[in-house]
Amino acid sequence: MMKDTVHLHDKTFRVMIPAAEIDRAVTAVAERINTDYRAKSVPLFIGVLNGSFMFLSDLMKKIDFDCELSFVKLSSYSGTATTGQVRSLIGLNNSIEGRDVIIVEDIVDTGESIEHMVRDLESRKPASISVCTLFFKPASYSKQIPIQYRALEIGNEFIVGYGLDYNQLGRNLKDVYVVTE
Ligand code: 5GP
Ligand code: MG
Repeated sequence: MMKDTVHLHDKTFRVMIPAAEIDRAVTAVAERINTDYRAKSVPLFIGVLNGSFMFLSDLMKKIDFDCELSFVKLSSYSGTATTGQVRSLIGLNNSIEGRDVIIVEDIVDTGESIEHMVRDLESRKPASISVCTLFFKPASYSKQIPIQYRALEIGNEFIVGYGLDYNQLGRNLKDVYVVTE
């Protein structure tokens, strides 16, 4: 059952994107990745924890080529505003040299995190890198890194659900909610 509003900590959120619409967007992006990567040799999906876990789980079920999966962590967010500092990448133990890598993010906002991530991965000599994000905020993005796969584009509002949190709450919601004033 979908609730119209949810309360997390001190804030109220209302439904913005129902699960069915998210599913359609995930399917569309998976089909594009299938087309682009089917002929490549065992691409590697790298999911950025924690926010991407639900998206990546649904995305992978729609991928029809042999692939590998790994998770990394890179945290830069606390509360509803970017803290500005980006921590280093942890969790990548195996070499990615010569691999076709698809980074899977929950949301690309200013692009600070993804730029840091791409630069780090580039230094490890993969064959290629592309970025797949569930949400993209075009009005906020200020970097040059190409974001090839954007499932959904939104404004500068703060959202939760489907893996995304507000101070760790809300990740379990299957619909996406937007904060109310
Ligand atoms: P960026 O470095 O692109 O500014 O921010 C990327 C990170 O900020 C995302 O991976 C996510 O963790 C967090 N973030 C940005 N916008 C939102 C939002 O609307 N909701 C939530 N829950 N997190 C966000
Ligand atoms: Mg993130």
